[in-house]
Amino acid sequence: MIDLAKAESQAVAWEISLRDWMELQVQVFGNVDVFGNPDLDDESVEEWRGVVAQVLIDNRLCSKANRFMECSRYAYLYQCDGPEKHDLFSPIYCDLRFCPRCAPRQFARLIEKYEPILKAVAKEPKPGFRFRELTLTTRNTGTLTAEQIKKFNGDVKKTLKILMKGINDWGAIWCDEVGFNNTNLHAHVLLHGPYIAQTKLAEVWEEVSGHEVVYIKEATRSGAKALIHLLKYVSKPPANDPEKIGLLEVAFHKTRRVHTVGRFFNFVGQDTDNTHSEWEKCPHCGAGLNKLPGITRIEKAIADGRTFVGTKQTARRKEWVN
Ligand SMILES: [Zn+2]
Ligand SMILES: [Zn+2]
Repeated sequence: MIDLAKAESQAVAWEISLRDWMELQVQVFGNVDVFGNPDLDDESVEEWRGVVAQVLIDNRLCSKANRFMECSRYAYLYQCDGPEKHDLFSPIYCDLRFCPRCAPRQFARLIEKYEPILKAVAKEPKPGFRFRELTLTTRNTGTLTAEQIKKFNGDVKKTLKILMKGINDWGAIWCDEVGFNNTNLHAHVLLHGPYIAQTKLAEVWEEVSGHEVVYIKEATRSGAKALIHLLKYVSKPPANDPEKIGLLEVAFHKTRRVHTVGRFFNFVGQDTDNTHSEWEKCPHCGAGLNKLPGITRIEKAIADGRTFVGTKQTARRKEWVN
């Protein structure tokens, strides 16, 4: 979306920062209050998003910063193949993990993606196997870096593999989380496997990671409900401080937040969410859709009488959703 060289040279020419350039673009070309939410204070939303964008710019994630600023303000245009040639639009979202507008959509997609494996597992009971909820924690260092997160995820995987050594058909899914407005990195794991004693888990976790605090209990919810419980934090950004949101985006840049291992790992490969969109057909007549060139402001698309269809950006989705 952003021609960085052009943006930077314009910003220099106008003697404004890159962030101000982005804000200016948004102010000139788009208004966030397009879905008619009267409580939404556009200016404060913009200011809040501007602070997040600044952190991303400071870390040279300029196109991410711009996507974040532009989230939900523009749309791609579509027209159907049917005789009536219906006009449609699809909003352009930023799909950043910690975007308050995009996080709930990410959550819904993740549920859809991982629910089938939990259902499949629940249908084939294995003696002694249960869904178990594990929490693995780290000491709070006050900062969060990509290296820290990568090491942490490696440690979680290693710990599970040590615990499940010699056991067939176990599987686990986990989600990295941080505490609200802090840097307390921890993982919630949903494991399908045999009993593990808390002391054993703590012993292995300490040996692998050097950290001590763990919890384990049998899941009180089954299948999909356990998954919703596990992923619920994905739907809500873990901070209201924009500086922290920016730093989280930087720390998680190119790093997955949701992971699968064991039997759950391959299964995810069958997921179709990444390769097709449910918005393949015209909602009015069922005909195929064609993307038209260019983009437009969402309020203009609505004013023009176009019909909303969901996102069709499957390539980006594959890259960003996790
Ligand atoms: Zn967004
Ligand atoms: Zn149509």
